[in-house]
Amino acid sequence: MSAVDLLDLDSSLTEEERQIRAVVRQLIDDRVRPHVAGWYEAGQVPARELAREFGKLGLLGMHLTGYGCAGSTAVAYGLACLELEAGDSGVRSLVSVQGSLAMYAIWRYGSEEQKQRWLPAMAAGEAIGCFGLTEPDHGSDPASMTTRARRDGDDWVLTGAKMWITNAPIADVAVIWARTDEGVRGFAVPMDTRGVTAREIGRKMSLRASVTGEISLDDVRLPADAQLPGAIGLKAPLSCLTEARHGIVWGALGAARDCLETTLSYATTRTQFGRPLAGFQLTQAKLADMAVEWNKGYLLALQLGRLADAGKLRPEQVSVGKLNNVREALAIARQCRTILGANGVSGDYPVMRHANNLESVLTYEGTSEIHQLVVGQKLTGVSAFT
Ligand SMILES: Cc1cc2nc3c(=O)[nH]c(=O)nc-3n(C[C@H](O)[C@H](O)[C@H](O)COP(=O)(O)OP(=O)(O)OC[C@H]3O[C@@H](n4cnc5c(N)ncnc54)[C@H](O)[C@@H]3O)c2cc1C
Repeated sequence: MSAVDLLDLDSSLTEEERQIRAVVRQLIDDRVRPHVAGWYEAGQVPARELAREFGKLGLLGMHLTGYGCAGSTAVAYGLACLELEAGDSGVRSLVSVQGSLAMYAIWRYGSEEQKQRWLPAMAAGEAIGCFGLTEPDHGSDPASMTTRARRDGDDWVLTGAKMWITNAPIADVAVIWARTDEGVRGFAVPMDTRGVTAREIGRKMSLRASVTGEISLDDVRLPADAQLPGAIGLKAPLSCLTEARHGIVWGALGAARDCLETTLSYATTRTQFGRPLAGFQLTQAKLADMAVEWNKGYLLALQLGRLADAGKLRPEQVSVGKLNNVREALAIARQCRTILGANGVSGDYPVMRHANNLESVLTYEGTSEIHQLVVGQKLTGVSAFT
């Protein structure tokens, strides 16, 4: 049990949920924690290798059923995200994009043939997927996308560009969202198709242990069966984002917990003015406030997870969770950094890495402002998006 679980919320987990969490925690301790500072510094991560190991444990598409997927509960998947992100947000992003975005899109909207072709290999980590919605000029407003898919006989021809796409440079398949004469549609695009190029985005100051890229689609000719038949309109990619955002609600708690545990340990051993930092009232006030926020975030995640398992989770509820838990996790990471003093800016401690990562988590999968607008619309009945 973590010292920060003041409310003993772990006691509301089932034995199976606890076991899954323990397995993922051990994997992160063995395979990620010893190396992640180096990956982050180098801006390179052995993503394919990790994907195979995560696949062996059933972490990819973990909450989906059939096609080699584990079929776990939403809460168990959330706990796995929490442990993954306690290692690094980039590592959790690898799993989220693979399972909740790329695999989920194919699982929910794909043909039986598409599912058979991609899902078992993706669940095993043998094939990597990415999800291309954002464009260079259209992020928060995907309805304005300019990537176009036009019919040419039985084929489709795709033209456009997607930007900030996690896993793109290493992906085998991209789920690409494009405008057609009938509205937005999704396509499973093999990355080795002629006309598809992926360029890695460098100089990131955040999520450095995650591969991010830009995808160019230059008259990419695809057979008719590349289209995801069930994906009709923008609500299809938005439903995938709801899936992934649920994982982030949990994941952000993992980054925050790692910061808190590191800081508690530091504050009890580092001495100034003849006593441990933990003995100063100002330090205790910071620690208490952070632990209270963390426990509130855990309660929130548990409620959303239980709603998801009951099939009752609504998008605006996920917005409440993403808005609160990422915002609070980032505040916790920054506050923890102050307690570590100069060591807080060192890569020898995970705190500033988590804080930098959480800047991306705050922005992707809907920025905080967009989630405020979703919640505001629910409260008032008025859309303030445009
Ligand atoms: C590391 C990383 C990985 C990513 N991975 C993926 C991926 O795998 N797939 C994918 O499709 N995308 C991905 N993204 C893109 C991400 O989803 C977008 O960056 C995000 O949706 C915001 O879009 P934008 O960056 O274009 O910002 P903009 O939409 O230009 O927004 C800029 C600012 O304006 C605010 N704003 C915009 N509209 C409004 C409004 N109506 N009212 C008030 N404020 C507003 C925003 O909240 C933000 O603060 C990734 C991003 C990062 C950083």
